[in-house]
Amino acid sequence: MSRIAIFPGSFDPFTIGHASVVRRALPLFDTIIISIGVNNSKRPLFSLEQRIETLQRLYKDEPSVEVASYDTLTTDFAKKMNAQFILRGLRSVRDFEYERDIAEMNSQLTGIETVLLFTEHQYACISSSAIRELIAYGKDVSQYLP
Ligand code: ADP
Repeated sequence: MSRIAIFPGSFDPFTIGHASVVRRALPLFDTIIISIGVNNSKRPLFSLEQRIETLQRLYKDEPSVEVASYDTLTTDFAKKMNAQFILRGLRSVRDFEYERDIAEMNSQLTGIETVLLFTEHQYACISSSAIRELIAYGKDVSQYLP
């Protein structure tokens, strides 16, 4: 059976921290589906189309990486994609607390396991929200984007 993981997130925008998680998870899974969660109550800086297009271009030569979007419960989307795993990244204790509760609930309710990779330390400070703030003040953020 092939090992399929979804990597869910807002990816607004997708950063070098996210790319590092995907790269280091490649040996673990046959397929990683980068899954852009659409939250209708949040207005993104980058449109869904922009995010999908950027990611498809970035991973066009990586056949085991797919890009998708969803507006349902993450575990329902995982089931729809036949994924047995949810991939997430951990930067801090704050991330850990948050991920642990969700991972435990998801596992209890659906059997879908969460695989967490620690951030590479040089990326620990990088978040999409900080990058959006820099963009809002007209700063060049290209060094944080893959
Ligand atoms: P969400 O809104 O669901 O947290 P994000 O797009 O911010 O979505 O992040 C998606 C996943 O990537 C999360 O598991 C997050 O912890 C992880 N992540 C974000 N930034 C980094 C980083 N710099 N290093 C490692 N993992 C990261």
